[in-house]
Amino acid sequence: MPHTPPRPLDVTDEFPELAGQERPTVRLHPRRGRPAPADSSLGGPLLWPAAEPWPRCDDPAHAGAPMVGVAQLYARDVPGLPAPPGADVCQVLWCPAPHVPDFGPRVLVRWRAAATGPAPDGDLAVPPPVDRATAVDDFIPGPCAVSPERTIDYPAWWELPDELRERIEAWQDGNGWSYVYHLGAAPGTKVGGWPNWIQDPEWPTCPRGHAMDHLLTVASWEYDGESRRTWRPPDLPEEDGDAGLMLGDAGNVYVFTCVTCDDRPTASVLQSS
Ligand SMILES: [Zn+2]
Ligand SMILES: [Zn+2]
Repeated sequence: MPHTPPRPLDVTDEFPELAGQERPTVRLHPRRGRPAPADSSLGGPLLWPAAEPWPRCDDPAHAGAPMVGVAQLYARDVPGLPAPPGADVCQVLWCPAPHVPDFGPRVLVRWRAAATGPAPDGDLAVPPPVDRATAVDDFIPGPCAVSPERTIDYPAWWELPDELRERIEAWQDGNGWSYVYHLGAAPGTKVGGWPNWIQDPEWPTCPRGHAMDHLLTVASWEYDGESRRTWRPPDLPEEDGDAGLMLGDAGNVYVFTCVTCDDRPTASVLQSS
């Protein structure tokens, strides 16, 4: 089980206004593997009944293109998963083609109850072949096992007020640590917490006007050459490989959900550098 090291310093000692802004997040630590339908996974097989139509894209540019499974999360593995009443499995699929306005995949989230769903060794759907004419290979995740780990996020850099950013910049000048890379929100693929925005925050609202919550980030990288200093668990093997995604230019797809509405409407945003 991976363990992210504690932060090298207490950011609320330095910046007391960040106290109370902590949010729990669950880092998924995807690693190439052979997950089964009964497992939480990234890019693995979904617990999807054969009798239920496989989701297809409704974008006019490639209507009918089959979606691909991106994530399957069982509530037993992911503390705090915002499941609607009666559900305990979150399934995330997307159409692996560029869509306006962000040129990201079109995301679909489906919730199920494992107890009343198909048996994991029962009659499960075989996903239709990917539409190679429209799909971006880098949007199709390779099968990964996940090792969920609960950590704490502080707000991403771009959520902070200008005045605080200026003080943090002055503080970190020459001390070896960077709020963006080492101290704020966890990079990589994770559930809940603060989105690790690459650009300005783009919090969506649901169709009924409620503020949405961050459900999941699917990331191109778990960390880069700089952020690995604080975010790479030393007990994770170095060479196992991850899902092999490249979302825009090393970007993230952020998926949001409304926890006020029982039908859990969702929205997604791709940001990259
Ligand atoms: Zn599409
Ligand atoms: Zn709502």
